[in-house]
Amino acid sequence: MFRSNPCLNCGACCAFFRVSFYWQESENELGGPVPQEMTEDISPYVRAMKGTNQAHPRCVALRGQVHEKVQCAIYAQRSSTCADFGVHWTSDGGFYQDYSDLERCNKARSAWHLRPLFMQVPRVQIQRPIMKHPRAHGHCAHAALRLHRSHHNNPARNQ
Ligand code: SF4
Ligand code: SF4
Repeated sequence: MFRSNPCLNCGACCAFFRVSFYWQESENELGGPVPQEMTEDISPYVRAMKGTNQAHPRCVALRGQVHEKVQCAIYAQRSSTCADFGVHWTSDGGFYQDYSDLERCNKARSAWHLRPLFMQVPRVQIQRPIMKHPRAHGHCAHAALRLHRSHHNNPARNQ
């Protein structure tokens, strides 16, 4: 299980895909957050981060070395394309991604010779309700708790 966000030592997607979005997201006079000078027109309605619309993409806002330590220079102002994509980290050590995002994430990681990520369900989503039995409340509640703990301790779940 990862104990820190794998994106912090990756950055592969920022140096693999064309990162495009609706033009108004970088129309700063209209309140769009993405610095316009870091974008280029793709079509009348679509812009892309500079550096990503080329044979060997690398977003102009990416700082650091892919596969080592990376940072987005405009993290708070990044486009919805960037904000929606990637690993969503949970405080209890799990992460989740939309399945198609995970596939694309691993495609980018593979291109950078990084090992694939596997989906991990946040623990809060797999907690089972305490079972109640009309004749033996306590017994069933403890049995459910044991089941819950053994599920958490199952090493296969954490692969
Ligand atoms: S804007 Fe930031 S998050 Fe988006 S591709 Fe560029 S470096 Fe990556
Ligand atoms: S979303 Fe995937 S490819 Fe992008 S930085 Fe995170 S781990 Fe790397």
